[in-house]
Amino acid sequence: MRPPARRCAPSQPPEGEAADLGAARRQDPPIWLFDLDNTLHDASRAVFWRLNGAMTDYIEAELQVSREEADALRLHYWRRYGATLMGLERHHGIRAAHFLAQTHTLPGLERDLHMPPSHRAALKRLRGRKILLTNAPAEYAKRVLTALDLSDCFEAVVSIEGMRVFGELRPKPDARSLRVVLARLKLPSHRCVLVEDTVANLRSARRLRMRTVWMQHYLKDNPHGPEAGLALHGKPSWVCARIRSLRSLHAWT
Ligand SMILES: [Mg+2]
Repeated sequence: MRPPARRCAPSQPPEGEAADLGAARRQDPPIWLFDLDNTLHDASRAVFWRLNGAMTDYIEAELQVSREEADALRLHYWRRYGATLMGLERHHGIRAAHFLAQTHTLPGLERDLHMPPSHRAALKRLRGRKILLTNAPAEYAKRVLTALDLSDCFEAVVSIEGMRVFGELRPKPDARSLRVVLARLKLPSHRCVLVEDTVANLRSARRLRMRTVWMQHYLKDNPHGPEAGLALHGKPSWVCARIRSLRSLHAWT
């Protein structure tokens, strides 16, 4: 098994702090924070197109705008805030619980979900605490984890409902929200590794001294959202390693 291409050098911690990443790795296994969609499974094919349609339906009905306007708003808020819901709550007074319940019903979702068996086995064997960190709602995350046979894999699931700062919704990539999550779960940031497909989220994590792994397995042939058009062979400075398989994470333990 090949190790991850390159890791963040201990001599180059974010924002000048002396993070001894090598020492942390030697002493204890990492604390893993995993994104869900397009990190653990192929959400672009199974979920996103349906979810986007459901959100556009919702915006069209609730805000009484045309379908084109609804679709543009959905995309605009997603790109600006990392979650469409945040824009709807902030600018239109939409209630989060109502939006999430109405848009994430996704009947028959389970039969379309896919995760390579080798990734599942690698994830289950991986040493260290594992926590799911997703901008999706809790009920959806639970359904997906159950369908992927990963229900027992994570000690905690942090969903979008748990990403609030002073009562305001702050999903990834908001760094303050990430700091609050780490404090709530008592996780030392220098021991955490965030595994994600969205590079903006990795950037926030690296600012907090976490190590960062850019999961590209589902981006190669099926780029989605912020990753569309992004060169996958390059590596931003805040990305410690690029991987195509969860098996590669075993080199970190
Ligand atoms: Mg993702």
